Amino acid sequence: MTDTLQKFMFESAPVRGELVEISDTWREVQARNTYPKAVKTLLGEMISAAALLSANLKFNGAIVMQIHGDGPVRLLVVECDSALQLRATAKVAPGATIADDATLPELVNANHQGRFVITLDPKDKLPGQQPYQGIVPLDGDSIATVIENYMMRSEQLDTKLWLAANDDVARGMLLQKLPKDGGTGSAMENDAEAWNHIVMLGSTVRNDELLATDIQTMMHRLFWEETIRVFDARHPSFHCNCSREKVGNMLKMLGREEVDSALDDLGTLAINCDFCGQHYEFDKVDCVQLFVADTATDATVQPPRDTRH
Ligand SMILES: [Zn+2]
Repeated sequence: MTDTLQKFMFESAPVRGELVEISDTWREVQARNTYPKAVKTLLGEMISAAALLSANLKFNGAIVMQIHGDGPVRLLVVECDSALQLRATAKVAPGATIADDATLPELVNANHQGRFVITLDPKDKLPGQQPYQGIVPLDGDSIATVIENYMMRSEQLDTKLWLAANDDVARGMLLQKLPKDGGTGSAMENDAEAWNHIVMLGSTVRNDELLATDIQTMMHRLFWEETIRVFDARHPSFHCNCSREKVGNMLKMLGREEVDSALDDLGTLAINCDFCGQHYEFDKVDCVQLFVADTATDATVQPPRDTRH
C-alpha cells in the first residue's frame, strides 16, 4: 500500500470529498520517537487532517498545525505542504502517565490554557510578509470537531471530518460543501438537503471500519448510490526540510549571550531535529561566524505575529 490521497466530487450535489491513507509516512514519523498510545492516535489524526486540508491549499506553501498543550502533552506539531510532504512530532511532559483512552481535553487542555494554532505559510513570501496564523479554540472532544468548527468560523465552509489512526495507518475522510454564489431560495434548500444526505451517508462509517478499509472500498461502500467524479490520486510522503542554516537561525534568535553561555558550559552545541533526528553541531567558531554573518547582512529575524480572527 502506498500513501494515497483521493479527491472526489459528487455530481448531484455541490460537495467535494477526500479520503486519505497514510502508512509509510506514518511509520517514518513513529520510527523517530516513542509515544504513548493516546498521543500516537492524536498525532496520527492530525497528520490525516493536515493532508486533507493541504490538498485544497490555493497557494504553494504549507499548513502547520501546532498544539501547545497545558496537560501531559506539551506540544504537537504537524506540517504538510502543497506537495503533501509531511513531518510531525510530539513532546510529552517528563514523567507524565497517559491513559490509553485519554481525551483531547485531558491531553492538551486540562487547565483550559491549551493553544491550537494553524499557520498557512506561503513558500515564496514577499519581503516582510508574515505567515497567516489563526488561533483555533480547543472547543471539542476530538481534533476533527475542533477543525470542523475552525473551518466554519474562518472559511465559512461546512466541513465534516472523520479521522482515525493506529500503529500501522492514519486514515481520514473529509466532506465539504462548496460555496455557491447566488441561487434562489429553493436551490439553496436543495443544496442543503443534498449536503445533509451526503453527510448522513458519511456518518455511517465507524472508526474501526475507517482504519481497516482501503480508499476504493470505502468510497464504494459509503457512496455507491451517488454518482462520483474521481480525480487522480496523490501520494503523501515523509520529508523534513530542516537544515544547518535553519538551526543556525534558531541559535541567532536565542541571542549571542545565551549561545555564548551555553558554549561555555558545553563546549559544542549539539542539536537534533525533533522531526527527523538529523544531528547538527555548532562549535565556538561556528557560532562566532553565525553572529558575524548576522551583523554583516543586518538580517533580522522576527517571531511570527499572531492574528486572531
Ligand atoms: Zn529534520
